[in-house]
Amino acid sequence: MRILKSFFKSYLLIELLRGLQLTGRYLFQRKITIQYPEEKTPQSYRFRGLHALRRYANGEERCIACKLCEAVCPALAITIESDEREDGTRRTTRYDIDLFKCIYCGFCEESCPVDSIVETRVYEYHFENRGEHIMTKEKLLAMGDKFESEIAADRAADAPYR
Ligand code: SF4
Ligand code: SF4
Repeated sequence: MRILKSFFKSYLLIELLRGLQLTGRYLFQRKITIQYPEEKTPQSYRFRGLHALRRYANGEERCIACKLCEAVCPALAITIESDEREDGTRRTTRYDIDLFKCIYCGFCEESCPVDSIVETRVYEYHFENRGEHIMTKEKLLAMGDKFESEIAADRAADAPYR
């Protein structure tokens, strides 16, 4: 009986018609394809893109070289070297993130006690030369300076859930 049923199913192209029915159902519905890069999908304020190091409003860098981010990074993508400044505070002399290793998990920003290392919404970037995949301290601070208003707004939106 099962063999007979299966034979008629194949003979009458039942499965093909079912497939066409599904195609027909979606044929006249609103399309969800977007014309990237002219059009973009909405982004969450928690989006984890390219990293940045933030400063305080007076221009002082937030990072206190505690190395928590380096310790927590599961990909071992962060390398930090630090030294004591003349005023007795500790600051990084080297802060590198290897973007080839980074898995954009966000653990670094979660661990930072002073909200220094963050991940921005920037996801469109590329490398043209060897070594450009290393985000140095200078590059990270420049990212922070450039996107500070957006970063601050995103952190404020997320504050009630922290
Ligand atoms: S996002 Fe994750 S993998 Fe990337 S540097 Fe931060 S902790 Fe490491
Ligand atoms: S970025 Fe934050 S967690 Fe990492 S060393 Fe600096 S202060 Fe510590």
